[in-house]
Amino acid sequence: MDDYESLLDRARSQVPEDAFKRSGERFKVPDIQLMVQGNRSFWQNFQEIISILNRPGKEVLKYVAGQLATAGNIEGSNAIFNGKFAPEQVHDVLNRYIDSYVICPVCTRPDTNMAKEGTAYYLVCQACGARTSVRPV
Ligand SMILES: [Zn+2]
Repeated sequence: MDDYESLLDRARSQVPEDAFKRSGERFKVPDIQLMVQGNRSFWQNFQEIISILNRPGKEVLKYVAGQLATAGNIEGSNAIFNGKFAPEQVHDVLNRYIDSYVICPVCTRPDTNMAKEGTAYYLVCQACGARTSVRPV
């Protein structure tokens, strides 16, 4: 548990200062930088975005690849998907992930963690303390 906490602290310390301080504004992530090369799509700022979301890359990758109905993997700071995709497609899927797994449905702030208890997953809000049951990714 201590290790997990210190990992979280490290992840948080990489988040730009004002990322969570835009009160009244919908949580925004940077534009998706996606480059198609051959038959693959390279999401070039994947690492930057997951550190802002404060979520494990593997979990975000699994969700996005699943929604795009393709396979993906992480190489360096890129996420790479089989197939040709437009940045807008990835952006839409990422927004659905954020709505389901990052934004607190009670206070609509993004300062949340995921917690697992047995087989159940919860979104735990650091701002208002709400615990919301979510489906596993
Ligand atoms: Zn909340």
